[in-house]
Amino acid sequence: MTAPPRIASSPRPCLATPAPEPLAAGRDAWHHHVTRIVATRDEVAGVRTYDLAFRDPAAAAAYTFAPGQFNMLYLPGIGEAAISISSDPRERASVGHTVKAVGNVTHALERLGVGDEVVLRGPFGTAWPLEELRGRDVLIVTGGVGLASVRSAILHVIAARGDYGRVFVLFGAKTPAGLIYAHEYEAWRTAGIDVGLTVDEADGDWTGHVGLVTALFDDLDLDAAATGLICCGPEPMMAAVTRWSQNRGLDCDVSLEAPMACGIGICFTCVAKVRDAEGGWDYRRTCIEGPVFAGSSIVW
Ligand SMILES: Cc1cc2nc3c(=O)[nH]c(=O)nc-3n(C[C@H](O)[C@H](O)[C@H](O)COP(=O)(O)OP(=O)(O)OC[C@H]3O[C@@H](n4cnc5c(N)ncnc54)[C@H](O)[C@@H]3O)c2cc1C
Repeated sequence: MTAPPRIASSPRPCLATPAPEPLAAGRDAWHHHVTRIVATRDEVAGVRTYDLAFRDPAAAAAYTFAPGQFNMLYLPGIGEAAISISSDPRERASVGHTVKAVGNVTHALERLGVGDEVVLRGPFGTAWPLEELRGRDVLIVTGGVGLASVRSAILHVIAARGDYGRVFVLFGAKTPAGLIYAHEYEAWRTAGIDVGLTVDEADGDWTGHVGLVTALFDDLDLDAAATGLICCGPEPMMAAVTRWSQNRGLDCDVSLEAPMACGIGICFTCVAKVRDAEGGWDYRRTCIEGPVFAGSSIVW
């Protein structure tokens, strides 16, 4: 069998902030923190936000993350899952994770409550390119629980609102009952963010847009050269958004939520197929070289 060609770089270097190789950097990537759930919030049915506080005050003081990064949440005897950090990076008392219950760990987490312990490793992965986007318009496109991965970026932009141009958040859910963080949209709008919502299927009370999130693009008056796009949601949606951005010459970064085991680049469970400018391809680990990638580099 012929080995796939190796590539040195993706077509457009990803704007995302590179993550250090945890092992190469000498960091103990298995190092874990015991945390306690200090608050929970039901966002929509089956999706809950867990605020975790470190048991060790020194660990709490030392812990920082950049929007777009994720933690591995471990429940002893059950397993571990990669979950994006959804809270404000300036928040020091706790770290937020918004979790959809789909499998072993996430259903077990659902059975826990305030006071229960969760073991955390992280933060891991690349971050949204928020430094590179300063001075530009920002278009954030999300679907479903993918909004969790960009919530910390939204809160970061709100805190530094003057550093960014126009900011749009376009969010789509299957039904109105799936619109997570609904209680926050008004605050985001008040902070100068243009929030556009859509659902695949309306119910009786819904008077907003119906259709795919990509349909909301038609209403936007964008200056492609001055706009950066960040996107997280189901893969078909990210593929469509990437194609749309490429047709209009917009930089687009996506966050992949590939099945993941170790989070530290050892197991290669989470590899994504990427292409280079010469038409070759290779694999990249979502946990180390991602989860934030240039959308144009991914073989969808
Ligand atoms: C970087 C990153 C960030 C992420 N951020 C978030 C986040 O913020 N919030 C969030 O909710 N999720 C997030 N995810 C996704 C999350 O990691 C996965 O959903 C994870 O698999 C959940 O772990 P689990 O043990 O609960 O589910 P698993 O047990 O791993 O199950 C996952 C899926 O596989 C199915 N499945 C499991 N076992 C089988 C089987 N034997 N046969 C067929 N199907 C099966 C389940 O039904 C489920 O749909 C993220 C993933 C990545 C990589």
